[in-house]
Amino acid sequence: MAKELRCRDLGMNCSQVIRAETEEELLERVAEHALTVHGIDVVQAGMLEQLQAVIYTVERP
Ligand SMILES: [Zn+2]
Repeated sequence: MAKELRCRDLGMNCSQVIRAETEEELLERVAEHALTVHGIDVVQAGMLEQLQAVIYTVERP
């Protein structure tokens, strides 16, 4: 099952939905997105727990 995270759920004014096969991969993608699009280093900003809290699982058909 895939994992997804809505950037909006992190309090960003952003409609990006990020999806990956594993939570680990998703966190990497979100970190990259946050850095390139929002200029935020999620590790430095202490946002990892916040990220993990808004990850949800997508059930695929
Ligand atoms: Zn975003």
